[in-house]
Amino acid sequence: ELKITASSVEPFLSELHSQYKSLQDGAVANYIPELSKVNPELFSICIATVNGEVYQVGDYNELFTIQSISKVFVYGLALEDRGRDYLLTKVGVEPTGDAFNAIVLDEVSKRPYNPMVNAGAIATTSLIKGTDAIERLNRMLDMFRRYTGHNVFVDISVFTSERVTGHRNRAMAHLMLNFGTIDQSVDETLDLYFQQCAVMVNCRDLAVMAATLANKGINPITREQSIDSRYIKDILSVMYTCGMYNFAGEWAYKIGIPAKSGISGGIIAVIPNRMGIGVFSPLLDSRGNSIRGVKVCEELSQKFGLHLFNCS
Ligand code: GLU
Repeated sequence: ELKITASSVEPFLSELHSQYKSLQDGAVANYIPELSKVNPELFSICIATVNGEVYQVGDYNELFTIQSISKVFVYGLALEDRGRDYLLTKVGVEPTGDAFNAIVLDEVSKRPYNPMVNAGAIATTSLIKGTDAIERLNRMLDMFRRYTGHNVFVDISVFTSERVTGHRNRAMAHLMLNFGTIDQSVDETLDLYFQQCAVMVNCRDLAVMAATLANKGINPITREQSIDSRYIKDILSVMYTCGMYNFAGEWAYKIGIPAKSGISGGIIAVIPNRMGIGVFSPLLDSRGNSIRGVKVCEELSQKFGLHLFNCS
């Protein structure tokens, strides 16, 4: 197993960046109109270790909306707010093999399949505690602050753009309201869900957030406990089985690391007790995963022997 040090990582990150910079396949997401305006050239890779070292290359200061990667962290907050047993009655942990925006619920239990598909994420968001919409939003932003180590903001344009065009998510939320899966005010829940997706981060933030999950919930830079360590295994398990849309199985097989991607082009990957990886490149494949992001993670997994089930 190759050790993660400045001399082993930094040249390799530069090499990966220049190698995959020329890969121009894929397309930027366009189903949220504002997202289609992103510069497709942007590309950054960042690694944060549990000891607080950060290695980065490319456009790592560039801000973008976190989109579906938020689902991981909001799931953690819901676990803290409601506990594992209650959450399981509301949202399952079964991979679907369907696209992220599939309109499906488990017919028998009336639950969405898992917290990483949109239906499950919306149901999870509805469980965040707070006396009103502002308190729920503030608690969520404060959670992101703990993980990134600084205050975060919602991009109002992206939020508004999704709010006025997100009919599919709205339909799903109403379906769940009909089934009694969600009970809070559905419009307020959708607003909070669209806000969590529009939280602005950069690639370095992604790596630090992932490293916090790798480090028993302690942010390796600020040393702040960001999530109760007892829930890390729940979060990483659903990331591992459900984090990469309908590519999750192949990802687990080939790359073998708990991960989550978002349609703005980010990917986080967590190597427990070692490090977090963040990659950002908005050119997506047909399933919604960043093409360069998948390649980079595959290369890193091979080079450093990161596959969880590596025996050689
Ligand atoms: N805000 C997007 C949605 O809910 C996130 C999708 C994604 O990143 O997969 O549809």
